[in-house]
Amino acid sequence: MPKARIVVVEDEAAIRRGVSDALRLSGYEVAEAPDGVAGLREAGSAGVDLVLLDIMLPKKDGLEVLSELRRSNPTRPVILLTARGSEDDRVRGLKMGADDYVVKPFSAKELIARVEAILRRTMKPAAEVCLVSVGPGTIDLGRREVRWPDGGRADLSETEAALLKYLVSNRERAVSREELLSRVWGIGTAGLETRAVDMHVARLRAKLKTPTGGDNQPEAIVTVRAHGYMAGPALASLSS
Ligand code: CA
Repeated sequence: MPKARIVVVEDEAAIRRGVSDALRLSGYEVAEAPDGVAGLREAGSAGVDLVLLDIMLPKKDGLEVLSELRRSNPTRPVILLTARGSEDDRVRGLKMGADDYVVKPFSAKELIARVEAILRRTMKPAAEVCLVSVGPGTIDLGRREVRWPDGGRADLSETEAALLKYLVSNRERAVSREELLSRVWGIGTAGLETRAVDMHVARLRAKLKTPTGGDNQPEAIVTVRAHGYMAGPALASLSS
């Protein structure tokens, strides 16, 4: 695995240096930024694997940096560095798509553990999924079809198959609509097109319902409130 590159955005020089030194000692490449404007520039540059982002920053506050970064880089991992007691900021940050947060004062050990956990998740290549079971049926993502034991079939569009594959490949976490737009559709997000994701999910859900299963079936795709979607209990990968 290549050396991960981490951007540290923090205006308090002592904390910024302490964090950066600890990361370098752990083998990471580090870029430092002392304010929100420089931070956004560094965080948005190519090849960055993770961003540590203070919330109270001069020039542009951390939540603003996060929101602008999410528009240009919807999937770039961000850990917020927050002050004790600023719970509202933490919740807002998580809703805006931050991956995690640490509360000051934190130990280098705690921070590195959080960083490693996120990089383990984001730097591994997504497994190739071809066959997925849905209740008693089978989804063949290569042929883009759903087959039921009674011989019934449903065809999936290319986008529906790609959407499903992305959710199943990332099944351990909820995926935001913005991330789906960027990774499945390959387009930047202006906020309006997220309805397209909802419409595709609705169509997929209908196709993945066991025809004879009635109303109380386990869900194939779960809605995660205020965030996005997640592969549900009805889905299981059969091959990788
Ligand atoms: Ca600060």
